Amino acid sequence: MGEAIVLKSRREIDLMRDANRIVAETLVLLEDKIAVVMTTAELDSLAEKNAGANGARPAFKGYRGFPGSLCVSINKQVVHGIPDRNVRLRDGDLVSIDFGVEYKGYFGDSAITVAVGNADAESRNLLAITRESLARGIAAAVIGNRVNDISRAVQVHVEAHGFSVVRQFVGHGIGASLHEPPEIPNYQRSGRTPKLMDGMTLAIEPMVNAGTHEVRVMRDGWTVETADGRPSAHFEHTVVVTDNGPEILSRV
Ligand code: MG
Ligand code: MG
Repeated sequence: MGEAIVLKSRREIDLMRDANRIVAETLVLLEDKIAVVMTTAELDSLAEKNAGANGARPAFKGYRGFPGSLCVSINKQVVHGIPDRNVRLRDGDLVSIDFGVEYKGYFGDSAITVAVGNADAESRNLLAITRESLARGIAAAVIGNRVNDISRAVQVHVEAHGFSVVRQFVGHGIGASLHEPPEIPNYQRSGRTPKLMDGMTLAIEPMVNAGTHEVRVMRDGWTVETADGRPSAHFEHTVVVTDNGPEILSRV
């Protein structure tokens, strides 16, 4: 079932490294500039300009009709929040920023969550555990393992801290397309999952909720929110599996 997983050549990985560097530099820029009273549309515009200045195309804009270059998801919003010039960041907001670009035919994809100003202890803990769970997932992206080992590493860490992983949305392969096989869930699935191999490029992206794992899609057709209204965090890296272990491509 499904298409085959595409293993990338050295040349392709080099191009993906370039694409992901642009994504990573953009996220660093946004993290640096993010502040109370900024609108989410202003963040979007910064990201779009930075991609353009580097010769890259924002990958999400127009993707299935998505209107922004950036996904900005605040507090109870999990992923796919639409940038809005009427939405201003407030002190204590937990803001997830997801960005992707296409550069010379290859894609980069990464996300961070930032606490604006004085976030409460639960939000800061949720942010830290989600970031750690991504690191655990990446550490499991080694030859000899299967996709399920990545999923398990994320889930175990999150649930050990009393949080939950979203089921309805998952990580993915990435390369000459933004989304490629395999799917990379943040929870274990029964049955066999693909073996990890040299040259596999994966976007690993835990979406972690403080309360229930249940989510719903809002009426705008995009924004995903937690069913119980409690906060959510999201971190993502594009990683290549190699004989020498996982390499994070979306890092400056
Ligand atoms: Mg992403
Ligand atoms: Mg992704």
